[in-house]
Amino acid sequence: MPNITGASQSSTTLPCVRTVAEIRERVAEARGQAQSIAFVPTMGALHEGHAELIRQASASYGFVVVSIFVNPTQFGPREDFTRYPRHLDRDLDICLKNGAHCVFHPDVTDIYPPGGMTVVTVPGLADRWEGEFRPGHFQGVTTVVLKLFEIVRPDVAFFGQKDYQQQLLIRRMCCDLHVPVEIRTIPTVREPDGLAMSSRNVYLSATERQTALSLSQTLRHGQSLIEAGERNGRRVQQAMRERLTRDAAVSVDYVELVDPQTLIPVVELASPTVVAIVAARVGTTRLIDNLIIPLR
Ligand code: AMP
Repeated sequence: MPNITGASQSSTTLPCVRTVAEIRERVAEARGQAQSIAFVPTMGALHEGHAELIRQASASYGFVVVSIFVNPTQFGPREDFTRYPRHLDRDLDICLKNGAHCVFHPDVTDIYPPGGMTVVTVPGLADRWEGEFRPGHFQGVTTVVLKLFEIVRPDVAFFGQKDYQQQLLIRRMCCDLHVPVEIRTIPTVREPDGLAMSSRNVYLSATERQTALSLSQTLRHGQSLIEAGERNGRRVQQAMRERLTRDAAVSVDYVELVDPQTLIPVVELASPTVVAIVAARVGTTRLIDNLIIPLR
Protein backbone atom coordinates (compact mmCIF):
# COMPACT_ATOMS: atom_id res chain seq x y z
CA MET A 1 0.00 0.00 0.00
CA PRO A 2 1.66 3.26 -1.07
CA ASN A 3 1.63 5.81 1.70
CA ILE A 4 2.74 9.35 1.19
CA THR A 5 3.67 12.01 3.65
CA GLY A 6 3.22 15.64 2.70
CA ALA A 7 5.16 18.57 4.03
CA SER A 8 1.97 20.55 4.65
CA GLN A 9 0.59 17.82 6.93
CA SER A 10 3.83 16.42 8.21
CA SER A 11 2.25 14.31 10.94
CA THR A 12 -0.20 12.74 8.51
CA THR A 13 0.14 10.03 5.93
CA LEU A 14 -2.27 9.47 3.09
CA PRO A 15 -3.29 5.86 2.65
CA CYS A 16 -3.83 4.76 -0.93
CA VAL A 17 -5.84 1.56 -0.88
CA ARG A 18 -6.45 -0.74 -3.83
CA THR A 19 -9.22 -3.14 -2.86
CA VAL A 20 -12.91 -2.88 -2.07
CA ALA A 21 -12.39 -4.61 1.28
CA GLU A 22 -9.67 -2.14 2.32
CA ILE A 23 -11.60 1.00 1.45
CA ARG A 24 -14.66 -0.34 3.25
CA GLU A 25 -12.50 -0.96 6.31
CA ARG A 26 -11.10 2.59 6.22
CA VAL A 27 -14.55 4.11 5.86
CA ALA A 28 -15.94 1.91 8.65
CA GLU A 29 -13.13 3.08 10.94
CA ALA A 30 -13.94 6.73 10.19
CA ARG A 31 -17.64 6.12 10.76
CA GLY A 32 -16.73 4.43 14.04
CA GLN A 33 -15.19 7.75 15.06
CA ALA A 34 -18.47 9.49 14.16
CA GLN A 35 -16.97 11.16 11.11
CA SER A 36 -19.07 12.10 8.10
CA ILE A 37 -17.82 10.70 4.80
CA ALA A 38 -17.29 12.85 1.71
CA PHE A 39 -16.36 11.34 -1.62
CA VAL A 40 -14.66 12.88 -4.66
CA PRO A 41 -14.64 10.48 -7.65
CA THR A 42 -11.96 11.26 -10.24
CA MET A 43 -10.04 9.69 -13.08
CA GLY A 44 -6.76 11.12 -11.80
CA ALA A 45 -4.45 13.52 -13.71
CA LEU A 46 -5.60 15.92 -11.04
CA HIS A 47 -5.57 19.67 -11.51
CA GLU A 48 -6.80 22.71 -9.63
CA GLY A 49 -10.43 21.83 -10.46
CA HIS A 50 -10.14 18.50 -8.66
CA ALA A 51 -8.17 20.18 -5.86
CA GLU A 52 -11.04 22.59 -5.31
CA LEU A 53 -13.50 19.69 -4.99
CA ILE A 54 -11.23 18.05 -2.40
CA ARG A 55 -10.79 21.34 -0.49
CA GLN A 56 -14.53 21.97 -0.39
CA ALA A 57 -15.13 18.41 0.79
CA SER A 58 -12.53 18.63 3.54
CA ALA A 59 -13.79 22.03 4.66
CA SER A 60 -17.09 20.52 5.84
CA TYR A 61 -16.64 16.78 6.25
CA GLY A 62 -14.53 14.68 8.61
CA PHE A 63 -13.26 12.01 6.25
CA VAL A 64 -12.61 12.65 2.57
CA VAL A 65 -12.14 9.76 0.15
CA VAL A 66 -10.83 10.51 -3.35
CA SER A 67 -11.08 7.76 -5.94
CA ILE A 68 -8.61 7.64 -8.81
CA PHE A 69 -9.93 5.27 -11.43
CA VAL A 70 -9.74 5.64 -15.19
CA ASN A 71 -13.06 4.00 -15.94
CA PRO A 72 -12.82 2.02 -19.19
CA THR A 73 -16.58 1.78 -19.75
CA GLN A 74 -17.05 5.50 -20.22
CA PHE A 75 -14.60 5.67 -23.13
CA GLY A 76 -15.71 4.90 -26.68
CA PRO A 77 -13.66 2.50 -28.83
CA ARG A 78 -11.93 5.38 -30.64
CA GLU A 79 -11.41 7.51 -27.52
CA ASP A 80 -8.34 8.13 -25.39
CA PHE A 81 -8.61 5.44 -22.68
CA THR A 82 -5.11 4.04 -23.19
CA ARG A 83 -3.41 7.41 -23.54
CA TYR A 84 -5.42 9.14 -20.79
CA PRO A 85 -2.80 10.83 -18.55
CA ARG A 86 -1.87 8.85 -15.43
CA HIS A 87 0.34 10.40 -12.71
CA LEU A 88 -0.38 8.60 -9.46
CA ASP A 89 2.42 10.08 -7.34
CA ARG A 90 1.58 13.63 -8.33
CA ASP A 91 -2.13 12.93 -7.77
CA LEU A 92 -1.50 11.56 -4.26
CA ASP A 93 0.46 14.68 -3.44
CA ILE A 94 -2.43 16.90 -4.60
CA CYS A 95 -4.90 14.80 -2.59
CA LEU A 96 -2.84 15.09 0.57
CA LYS A 97 -2.14 18.81 0.22
CA ASN A 98 -5.82 19.58 -0.28
CA GLY A 99 -7.15 17.65 2.68
CA ALA A 100 -8.02 14.14 1.49
CA HIS A 101 -7.82 11.40 4.10
CA CYS A 102 -7.75 8.32 1.89
CA VAL A 103 -7.34 7.53 -1.81
CA PHE A 104 -9.08 4.59 -3.43
CA HIS A 105 -7.19 3.44 -6.53
CA PRO A 106 -8.69 0.14 -7.60
CA ASP A 107 -7.87 -2.15 -10.51
CA VAL A 108 -10.42 -2.53 -13.28
CA THR A 109 -11.24 -6.10 -12.16
CA ASP A 110 -12.05 -4.90 -8.61
CA ILE A 111 -14.67 -2.56 -9.98
CA TYR A 112 -15.88 -4.81 -12.80
CA PRO A 113 -15.92 -8.39 -11.50
CA PRO A 114 -15.38 -10.89 -14.33
CA GLY A 115 -18.68 -11.89 -15.89
CA GLY A 116 -20.40 -8.72 -14.65
CA MET A 117 -23.60 -7.78 -16.45
CA THR A 118 -25.35 -5.03 -14.52
CA VAL A 119 -25.45 -1.49 -15.89
CA VAL A 120 -27.17 1.72 -14.88
CA THR A 121 -28.71 3.98 -17.50
CA VAL A 122 -30.68 7.19 -17.32
CA PRO A 123 -32.50 7.11 -20.64
CA GLY A 124 -33.43 10.44 -22.12
CA LEU A 125 -31.02 12.64 -20.22
CA ALA A 126 -28.11 10.37 -21.17
CA ASP A 127 -28.95 10.43 -24.87
CA ARG A 128 -28.66 14.16 -25.40
CA TRP A 129 -25.55 16.27 -26.13
CA GLU A 130 -22.54 14.39 -24.76
CA GLY A 131 -24.54 11.17 -25.00
CA GLU A 132 -25.21 11.73 -28.69
CA PHE A 133 -21.56 12.35 -29.51
CA ARG A 134 -20.22 9.73 -27.07
CA PRO A 135 -22.64 6.79 -27.29
CA GLY A 136 -22.50 4.68 -24.13
CA HIS A 137 -20.45 7.27 -22.25
CA PHE A 138 -23.05 8.09 -19.63
CA GLN A 139 -24.00 4.48 -19.07
CA GLY A 140 -20.35 3.95 -18.16
CA VAL A 141 -20.41 6.98 -15.88
CA THR A 142 -23.62 6.18 -13.99
CA THR A 143 -22.65 2.52 -13.67
CA VAL A 144 -19.23 3.26 -12.20
CA VAL A 145 -20.53 6.04 -9.94
CA LEU A 146 -23.22 3.79 -8.47
CA LYS A 147 -20.63 1.04 -7.93
CA LEU A 148 -18.30 3.52 -6.21
CA PHE A 149 -21.16 4.86 -4.09
CA GLU A 150 -22.00 1.28 -3.03
CA ILE A 151 -18.37 0.62 -2.16
CA VAL A 152 -17.62 3.86 -0.30
CA ARG A 153 -21.14 4.61 0.98
CA PRO A 154 -20.45 8.31 1.44
CA ASP A 155 -22.81 10.86 2.97
CA VAL A 156 -21.99 13.36 0.26
CA ALA A 157 -20.22 13.33 -3.10
CA PHE A 158 -18.63 16.26 -4.91
CA PHE A 159 -18.82 16.78 -8.66
CA GLY A 160 -17.78 19.62 -10.96
CA GLN A 161 -20.09 21.90 -12.90
CA LYS A 162 -17.54 21.51 -15.70
CA ASP A 163 -19.39 18.28 -16.52
CA TYR A 164 -22.85 19.79 -16.19
CA GLN A 165 -24.75 16.96 -17.87
CA GLN A 166 -22.87 14.38 -15.80
CA GLN A 167 -23.79 15.89 -12.44
CA LEU A 168 -27.40 16.24 -13.57
CA LEU A 169 -27.55 12.55 -14.53
CA ILE A 170 -26.02 11.52 -11.23
CA ARG A 171 -28.55 13.60 -9.33
CA ARG A 172 -31.33 11.97 -11.35
CA MET A 173 -29.92 8.48 -10.74
CA CYS A 174 -29.67 9.06 -6.97
CA CYS A 175 -33.20 10.37 -6.84
CA ASP A 176 -34.65 7.56 -8.98
CA LEU A 177 -32.82 4.75 -7.17
CA HIS A 178 -33.14 6.23 -3.65
CA VAL A 179 -29.37 6.39 -3.29
CA PRO A 180 -28.78 8.15 0.06
CA VAL A 181 -25.89 10.34 -1.13
CA GLU A 182 -26.12 14.13 -1.21
CA ILE A 183 -24.71 15.51 -4.47
CA ARG A 184 -22.78 18.77 -4.34
CA THR A 185 -21.78 20.55 -7.54
CA ILE A 186 -18.79 22.90 -7.46
CA PRO A 187 -18.36 25.76 -9.98
CA THR A 188 -15.91 25.24 -12.84
CA VAL A 189 -12.33 26.19 -12.05
CA ARG A 190 -10.72 28.05 -14.94
CA GLU A 191 -7.27 29.14 -16.05
CA PRO A 192 -6.75 32.91 -15.70
CA ASP A 193 -7.59 33.36 -19.41
CA GLY A 194 -10.92 31.54 -19.04
CA LEU A 195 -10.07 28.04 -20.31
CA ALA A 196 -11.90 25.47 -18.19
CA MET A 197 -9.36 23.25 -16.47
CA SER A 198 -9.38 19.70 -17.79
CA SER A 199 -7.08 16.71 -17.62
CA ARG A 200 -7.26 16.69 -21.43
CA ASN A 201 -5.80 20.21 -21.79
CA VAL A 202 -2.33 18.61 -21.75
CA TYR A 203 -3.06 17.22 -25.21
CA LEU A 204 -3.25 20.76 -26.65
CA SER A 205 -0.29 22.29 -28.51
CA ALA A 206 0.50 25.94 -27.74
CA THR A 207 -1.49 27.06 -30.80
CA GLU A 208 -4.42 24.77 -29.98
CA ARG A 209 -4.36 26.05 -26.38
CA GLN A 210 -5.01 29.57 -27.79
CA THR A 211 -7.70 28.27 -30.13
CA ALA A 212 -9.40 26.47 -27.24
CA LEU A 213 -10.19 29.84 -25.66
CA SER A 214 -12.98 30.12 -28.25
CA LEU A 215 -15.15 27.84 -26.13
CA SER A 216 -15.24 30.00 -23.00
CA GLN A 217 -15.33 33.16 -25.11
CA THR A 218 -18.37 31.83 -26.97
CA LEU A 219 -20.16 31.14 -23.68
CA ARG A 220 -19.37 34.63 -22.45
CA HIS A 221 -20.58 36.09 -25.75
CA GLY A 222 -23.93 34.37 -25.21
CA GLN A 223 -24.03 35.65 -21.66
CA SER A 224 -23.35 39.23 -22.75
CA LEU A 225 -26.19 39.12 -25.31
CA ILE A 226 -28.57 37.89 -22.62
CA GLU A 227 -27.33 40.52 -20.18
CA ALA A 228 -27.96 43.13 -22.87
CA GLY A 229 -31.61 42.03 -22.94
CA GLU A 230 -31.85 39.43 -25.72
CA ARG A 231 -34.55 36.94 -24.75
CA ASN A 232 -34.78 34.90 -27.93
CA GLY A 233 -32.84 31.72 -27.27
CA ARG A 234 -32.48 30.90 -30.98
CA ARG A 235 -30.86 34.24 -31.76
CA VAL A 236 -28.40 33.83 -28.89
CA GLN A 237 -27.63 30.27 -29.98
CA GLN A 238 -27.00 31.38 -33.56
CA ALA A 239 -24.72 34.17 -32.41
CA MET A 240 -22.79 31.71 -30.25
CA ARG A 241 -22.42 29.28 -33.13
CA GLU A 242 -21.16 32.08 -35.38
CA ARG A 243 -18.64 33.08 -32.75
CA LEU A 244 -17.43 29.50 -32.32
CA THR A 245 -17.14 28.70 -36.02
CA ARG A 246 -15.16 31.89 -36.70
CA ASP A 247 -11.99 29.93 -36.04
CA ALA A 248 -11.59 27.22 -38.70
CA ALA A 249 -9.44 25.19 -36.30
CA VAL A 250 -12.50 24.58 -34.09
CA SER A 251 -14.79 21.75 -35.09
CA VAL A 252 -18.13 22.18 -33.32
CA ASP A 253 -20.10 19.23 -31.95
CA TYR A 254 -22.78 21.35 -30.33
CA VAL A 255 -23.39 24.81 -28.92
CA GLU A 256 -26.76 25.39 -27.28
CA LEU A 257 -28.81 27.18 -24.65
CA VAL A 258 -30.66 24.59 -22.61
CA ASP A 259 -33.01 24.23 -19.69
CA PRO A 260 -30.97 23.51 -16.53
CA GLN A 261 -33.05 20.43 -15.60
CA THR A 262 -34.21 18.88 -18.88
CA LEU A 263 -31.33 19.98 -21.14
CA ILE A 264 -33.91 20.78 -23.81
CA PRO A 265 -33.04 23.84 -25.94
CA VAL A 266 -34.75 26.97 -24.69
CA VAL A 267 -36.52 29.27 -27.14
CA GLU A 268 -38.06 31.88 -24.81
CA LEU A 269 -35.49 32.84 -22.19
CA ALA A 270 -37.79 33.22 -19.20
CA SER A 271 -36.86 30.73 -16.47
CA PRO A 272 -34.55 31.77 -13.60
CA THR A 273 -31.47 30.42 -15.36
CA VAL A 274 -30.39 28.94 -18.65
CA VAL A 275 -27.28 26.87 -19.30
CA ALA A 276 -25.06 27.57 -22.28
CA ILE A 277 -23.29 24.36 -23.27
CA VAL A 278 -20.58 23.76 -25.81
CA ALA A 279 -18.51 20.85 -27.11
CA ALA A 280 -15.91 21.15 -29.82
CA ARG A 281 -12.76 19.53 -31.09
CA VAL A 282 -9.53 21.47 -31.33
CA GLY A 283 -7.15 19.33 -33.35
CA THR A 284 -7.77 15.83 -32.00
CA THR A 285 -8.75 17.02 -28.53
CA ARG A 286 -12.42 17.15 -27.62
CA LEU A 287 -13.32 19.85 -25.11
CA ILE A 288 -16.54 20.75 -23.31
CA ASP A 289 -17.58 23.79 -21.30
CA ASN A 290 -20.74 25.43 -19.96
CA LEU A 291 -22.00 28.52 -18.20
CA ILE A 292 -25.06 28.93 -16.00
CA ILE A 293 -26.58 32.25 -17.01
CA PRO A 294 -29.09 33.98 -14.69
CA LEU A 295 -32.11 35.59 -16.35
CA ARG A 296 -33.02 38.68 -14.41
P1 AMP B 1 -12.56 13.64 -14.06
O1 AMP B 1 -11.29 13.26 -13.38
O2 AMP B 1 -12.36 14.41 -15.32
O3 AMP B 1 -13.54 12.50 -14.18
O4 AMP B 1 -13.26 14.68 -13.08
C1 AMP B 1 -13.53 14.36 -11.74
C2 AMP B 1 -14.42 15.42 -11.16
O5 AMP B 1 -13.77 16.68 -11.24
C3 AMP B 1 -15.74 15.56 -11.96
O6 AMP B 1 -16.81 15.77 -11.03
C4 AMP B 1 -15.49 16.79 -12.78
O7 AMP B 1 -16.67 17.49 -13.14
C5 AMP B 1 -14.64 17.61 -11.84
N1 AMP B 1 -13.88 18.62 -12.59
C6 AMP B 1 -13.12 18.42 -13.69
N2 AMP B 1 -12.63 19.60 -14.14
C7 AMP B 1 -13.11 20.55 -13.31
C8 AMP B 1 -12.97 21.97 -13.28
N3 AMP B 1 -12.26 22.65 -14.16
N4 AMP B 1 -13.61 22.64 -12.28
C9 AMP B 1 -14.37 21.97 -11.37
N5 AMP B 1 -14.53 20.64 -11.36
C10 AMP B 1 -13.91 19.93 -12.32
